[in-house]
Amino acid sequence: MFIAHLPAGYLLTRQMARKRETAWRGLLAVGLLCSVLPDFDLIYFYVVDHRRTLHHDYWTHTPLFWIAAAAVIGLVLLVSGKRERLIFVWAGLLNILLHLAMDSVAADIRWFYPLSEARLNLVHIPARYSPWFLNFLLHWTFAVELMILIAAVVVLLKSRRKRGFATGPTTTS
Ligand SMILES: [Zn+2]
Repeated sequence: MFIAHLPAGYLLTRQMARKRETAWRGLLAVGLLCSVLPDFDLIYFYVVDHRRTLHHDYWTHTPLFWIAAAAVIGLVLLVSGKRERLIFVWAGLLNILLHLAMDSVAADIRWFYPLSEARLNLVHIPARYSPWFLNFLLHWTFAVELMILIAAVVVLLKSRRKRGFATGPTTTS
């Protein structure tokens, strides 16, 4: 997906933070960052790998890696008596898994790598147009992305109207 990761991350994190007024800003920061974190591998893809391997095949797009990383971080927090910070690990992990689920709509994601090479891809988008990204922008899945974006903007604007310019999670919408 192209444009829906960040707005979807906003909607997800907002739900997680509904009853955590004081941690809202920190949760939002972690959630938004992690909603796009797997795609930071595009820097490696273009600068180092010179587009030889699809970036969805990097470990940054394998769910088990992130689950293991979250487990380690969570364990460290528990052992060091910082249980209250686990919500940030959850926010990060759920946003990353949401990212990978959304990628799985129109791209191959290896959900069980390294245990299995099986790839999950809900919709195969045919290569009809050039440049390549037009194939995605002109496909019906892009309409879903637009709907997610509009939903996030509507929720954000309603939140701002109720709370001035604070964007906290306590509205009933
Ligand atoms: Zn991605």
